[in-house]
Amino acid sequence: MATVRNRKAIASPDLANIAGLSPLAKASRILGVRLFDVGQGDSVAILVDVEGNEEAALQLDYGGRERNPFTKNSDVDLRMPIAGNQLLMLTHWDEDHWCSAPKGTMAQNAVWLVPRQVTSPRAVRFSATLNDIHCIPESLVGQTLRFNTRNDDYILWEKIGSFPGAFAKDEDCNKSGVALAIVRKGLDGFEAILLPGDAPFEKVGCFLQLEQQGVALRGILAFHHGAGTHWTQATASLLQNWTKAKTLEVVFSCSQPNSYNHPDEGRYKALLPTTTAFLRTADARASKAIAIDLRF
Ligand SMILES: [Zn+2]
Repeated sequence: MATVRNRKAIASPDLANIAGLSPLAKASRILGVRLFDVGQGDSVAILVDVEGNEEAALQLDYGGRERNPFTKNSDVDLRMPIAGNQLLMLTHWDEDHWCSAPKGTMAQNAVWLVPRQVTSPRAVRFSATLNDIHCIPESLVGQTLRFNTRNDDYILWEKIGSFPGAFAKDEDCNKSGVALAIVRKGLDGFEAILLPGDAPFEKVGCFLQLEQQGVALRGILAFHHGAGTHWTQATASLLQNWTKAKTLEVVFSCSQPNSYNHPDEGRYKALLPTTTAFLRTADARASKAIAIDLRF
């Protein structure tokens, strides 16, 4: 499989100053995440409170592949608006995580922070059209990075694997990309929503830290590979052992039907409490909603 695909490396420059990024600086609280229905793929807005107003402080991914809901290009901007100076982070360069961006105009004007990866020539061509795009320096791989609000809430994020070099034959983008955890302090302590991209949970160092610190699991955006290949005993033990919040919601953001057969609801159901709510973006569409909000 690896030898027949034509692959190229993202060639955008490294971000010069990671400490200069502070997308939550104006936010007093993190309210939750908005998981847009994009068919197969992910597109997530992080919702925060800024002086009593709800705002999207950060966009994670901008996908929409198989069975996406966009009948014309202008639907993309209408349904998934992004401010011009907003930070847009990519978990990885698989098409279901970025491919709505060239259809709209707003995402193209955002500030892009992306992993350097070996990926499709189409992804590399698109990345070269963006004016404000920066790769996460490889020196940060495996480090937990943090965006703070003005109060106790925060985001942890991490580039979980190394770029194998521009001349590598292939790369598993799922395991060298970026994952985020959204953490909020509630009355019962800290709770987290996991946004793993398509990475197995146990590959994300900051997820393991949160579990060990006793931060309760409040929400999961299911990764797109629950069908088998990336689901190991380590995946199962982590989810099973993690302290759960009173409410736990798992969202499947994928097409229905989908040709990939993932994620696999049965795998999650076998491990999580019977009270866990399972939500699907395809069901949201059936009830005319454009997104599913997970709010703390
Ligand atoms: Zn995916």
